Amino acid sequence: MMHEDKTEVLVVGAGPVGMLTALVLAEEGIEVKVIDQEFQRAARSYACVLHPRTLRILHRLGLSAEVLQLGQRVDAVAFYEGPSRRAEVQLAKLPLEFPFLVALPQSALEELLERRLSEQRGVRVQWNHRLAALHADDGAVVATVERLAETAKGYIVPSWEWTVDKTLQTRASFVVGADGHDSKVRPALGLDCESFGAPASFEVFEFTSGGKLDAEMRVVFHGDTANVLWPLSVSKCRWSFQVPVAEGADPFPRKERSGVTLVETERDRDDRRHVERFLRERAPWFAGSVGEFHWSSDVQFERRLARQFGHGRCWLAGDAAHQTNPIGAQSMNVGLQEAEALATVLRKILREKAPLDLLAAYGQGRQDEWQRLLGHRGALTSTGQAEAWVQAHAERMLSCLPASGDDLALLLRPLGLELR
Ligand SMILES: Cc1cc2nc3c(=O)[nH]c(=O)nc-3n(C[C@H](O)[C@H](O)[C@H](O)COP(=O)(O)OP(=O)(O)OC[C@H]3O[C@@H](n4cnc5c(N)ncnc54)[C@H](O)[C@@H]3O)c2cc1C
Repeated sequence: MMHEDKTEVLVVGAGPVGMLTALVLAEEGIEVKVIDQEFQRAARSYACVLHPRTLRILHRLGLSAEVLQLGQRVDAVAFYEGPSRRAEVQLAKLPLEFPFLVALPQSALEELLERRLSEQRGVRVQWNHRLAALHADDGAVVATVERLAETAKGYIVPSWEWTVDKTLQTRASFVVGADGHDSKVRPALGLDCESFGAPASFEVFEFTSGGKLDAEMRVVFHGDTANVLWPLSVSKCRWSFQVPVAEGADPFPRKERSGVTLVETERDRDDRRHVERFLRERAPWFAGSVGEFHWSSDVQFERRLARQFGHGRCWLAGDAAHQTNPIGAQSMNVGLQEAEALATVLRKILREKAPLDLLAAYGQGRQDEWQRLLGHRGALTSTGQAEAWVQAHAERMLSCLPASGDDLALLLRPLGLELR
């Protein structure tokens, strides 16, 4: 008979959302196990900004001081079109506990969460453990998990591949599917995603830039494209440029796990010319230089939402349930809020004998939030104070704002907008 172990909550996926779910549960003394099919956490900055609401969650977990020390404060959100600055939100003027954003590489956030889980809560992520199947059994969920090992193949020219070394079973009271865009948990629950409009492709570049960068997020509308500048430090920035969706584009990539920085190559020189051309056309006000490249990527994002966030004893959080364009970093940040909300519901059920129905309320709340963020429920309207440019661009601005929930309403106010 196959060996079976037990836990109260099995978290599938050790991205930021899975690790935060596990941390909140572990802080409450709930037994939690985290598995991930990869061999280590991500090596790149991906969703590189934390919203004010995320900072509040990290503060409750005692992590805000370290986040502030590692990251770069961003005090304002500005909108540009071509050479003109069209609108701005000064975050310091808003009644927020953390009236700013923090630019922090996703890899640094993941490292912080993994360290806190292991050092303070004794929970070690089980890397190289892949969820293969789930089935409900007598008031629990049984997960079939494959342990992966690297083996050599080939004789004259050896190469390495990951193969299943052992198959294990874990019996859990609840399963959280935080297993990202290509989720295995979501189809195992019989859930698919609904699409909310066309996908959008971006070319992303991180580079050293001479000259001091302002502590502002700058969103640039140019024709049909939305582009964004993030200051990552005083001299390093990220530009994401929207480009036409290529036919037969690659599927959404997996996160890179080893962060090798290459010396300057022909591709870097091409990238530099390419970025300089984008900047001339789309952001002629950008005064920085295009120095050393640290990372670049082409990636296509969908606008989609799972039809449900789960049922029974298995629930989703993060990219497993949704995706949107990357400008406002909403997918990861709202995912982190889902992590906290779901962990809180699970604690109430496991420790306070709250009814299982609370999980359905979690799912409905998340659906409502995302339907608003994806522009499917409610509409952005002027409070009577919006400038003509803002009114004309309101719909596009929604997914570009680094906020959700009540904070989103606060950010909309100085723009003269509200979400009805
Ligand atoms: C190339 C790239 C560029 C991006 N750029 C941006 C950006 O500019 N701005 C932005 O906001 N966002 C960006 N993102 C998206 C951002 O990274 C995600 O929103 C964020 O990672 C979501 O976190 P998550 O924890 O929900 O999922 P993930 O971080 O995807 O974590 C899911 C984890 O589950 C694991 N997993 C999957 N299947 C299994 C299985 N069967 N068994 C066990 N483990 C499994 C995966 O290995 C992974 O570690 C980018 C992503 C990529 C890949």
